[in-house]
Amino acid sequence: MYIKTLSSRLQQLSAYLLPAQCLLCRLPSQGSLLCMYCQKSLLKQRPHCLHCALPLIHDEAYCSQCMHNVDAFTQIYALDDYIKPYPALIKNFKYKKQLLNGQLLAQLLSLSIQQNIPADQISQVDYLIPVPLHCKRLRQRGFNQAQLLADVLAKNLSIPILNQAVQRIKNTCAQEGLNKQKRKKNLKGAFTLQKEQQASLKDAYVVIIDDVVSSGATVNSLCTILLQGGARRVDIWAICRTSRQPKQIISP
Ligand SMILES: [Zn+2]
Ligand SMILES: [Zn+2]
Repeated sequence: MYIKTLSSRLQQLSAYLLPAQCLLCRLPSQGSLLCMYCQKSLLKQRPHCLHCALPLIHDEAYCSQCMHNVDAFTQIYALDDYIKPYPALIKNFKYKKQLLNGQLLAQLLSLSIQQNIPADQISQVDYLIPVPLHCKRLRQRGFNQAQLLADVLAKNLSIPILNQAVQRIKNTCAQEGLNKQKRKKNLKGAFTLQKEQQASLKDAYVVIIDDVVSSGATVNSLCTILLQGGARRVDIWAICRTSRQPKQIISP
């Protein structure tokens, strides 16, 4: 009797806490963040490069850049290009603290990963590492968006998070408007490895979690540090991948 009352109270509470409408189209969503229609359309895969996840016009395997570039990471996987509705969802999440948007994006990313990355590859991942924020930026924003995304992914995909493995010791300025070389210079010495965590990294397959990957300079810099620290493979999972330099999004 007591359990029954408790469970009906919890149901009432979740109906109150969870939106009854789809966050995007406002149609009834039966307690989910998205209606079935929006979820299905957002999980539709567009052609993208299998190495760097840049959107492709034709259904090739790799983009022209990846034919020549040598990256530190093995693979980037992104939910989509930086196109509608993602810019608004991400900006509201990061800059207006609409954390429900973050939950929604992380849920979509984990569903997309489960649909498109082989289960035996996912099960080999040892740790997720959210891109760390500099302590000053963390104080300003009040939360690390990559950490929130990683928390949901860790739960849904049963992969532990390796926190404190790397620290951001340089409060890098926005990368917008900088050329490739200046971006690299801007990030030089931005991250440092915590010696206490180095044993966990040895021979590990780690995945960096980020919200938007644009030039790839940040994740490449972080990836190099992790490989130097002993990781055997580093991938990146992100909400969006774009070659454009969208204002604001570039700032970590
Ligand atoms: Zn909808
Ligand atoms: Zn590529």
